[in-house]
Amino acid sequence: MSDYAQAVTEFYKKNLSNTSLDKSTLVGDCPFCPEKGMDGGSKLAVIVNPESFFLGFFRCLNRCVPGGFPLWYSSLAKLDPELTPGFDPDREYALRQTDYPVQSINQEIKSFQDNLTDTIIEHFGQSTIKKQVLSGLSIGYNGRYIVYPYFQEDGNCYTARCVNPDRAEDFFWHGDTGMKSEQFQIFNVQEIQRCENGALVLCEGEENLLTLKQMGLPGIAVPDSQLFEAIETNRFDFIRTLFIVVANNAESELRARALASRIGYKVRLLNWSAGLPRNYNLWQMARDKGSDFPASV
Ligand SMILES: [Zn+2]
Repeated sequence: MSDYAQAVTEFYKKNLSNTSLDKSTLVGDCPFCPEKGMDGGSKLAVIVNPESFFLGFFRCLNRCVPGGFPLWYSSLAKLDPELTPGFDPDREYALRQTDYPVQSINQEIKSFQDNLTDTIIEHFGQSTIKKQVLSGLSIGYNGRYIVYPYFQEDGNCYTARCVNPDRAEDFFWHGDTGMKSEQFQIFNVQEIQRCENGALVLCEGEENLLTLKQMGLPGIAVPDSQLFEAIETNRFDFIRTLFIVVANNAESELRARALASRIGYKVRLLNWSAGLPRNYNLWQMARDKGSDFPASV
């Protein structure tokens, strides 16, 4: 076992109570559930397999907080970052010079969340996605369109992409006009920071990301692979491995390859097996495979 893998395991063992090891998963009491007002009996699971790309990734099985890697754990638990495996005092974070608007649409997003109907929940359920995942990403409904809120790095939401549940090509952007430019079109962008020193998945299409979130994996999404061209690659400076998943078509695959060559060695492209229909994606695969979906990925 590498020194890092050992340090990671010891770090979580030291900071969690009632731990037990189940294969390559360390399980302990979730320290964050009580402060979120949730049942204290729930568990936090950490991947401690030294061979895994997701070594060090923790998540609450109750989804009380978004999961992540050791530095994110430290910041949530208010521990000293210097005592966290992987901490590097010389790291310079690319500060984004962004003047965020004064007005957010956070409140509106909450009310869209309250509007989720049984039909919409069932729409996601057909692709294995449960309500907890929708709440975790603050996804809502405006009566006609699914509302995907694009929270920014400052923790506020200024824009949302509203998509017709029956016709994905029917969509519009809601919110601040200045914040609709390409560089802000990364869904769940805050996850990049939570995955420092770890791995995450970049998906084409928000709904495809949701299937992975349901499995407990970390990730981000862009509405369409056309956006890959606009992604600033220094966002991934402190990510060890970036998986990219696009729909099954030649254009998307070309764009994924172009982004991979801009970012470099840390990217792994997920390929579809031959013979699958054009534009096949994780959402459809989840629908086809149901409870066998995780094993198929
Ligand atoms: Zn929890």
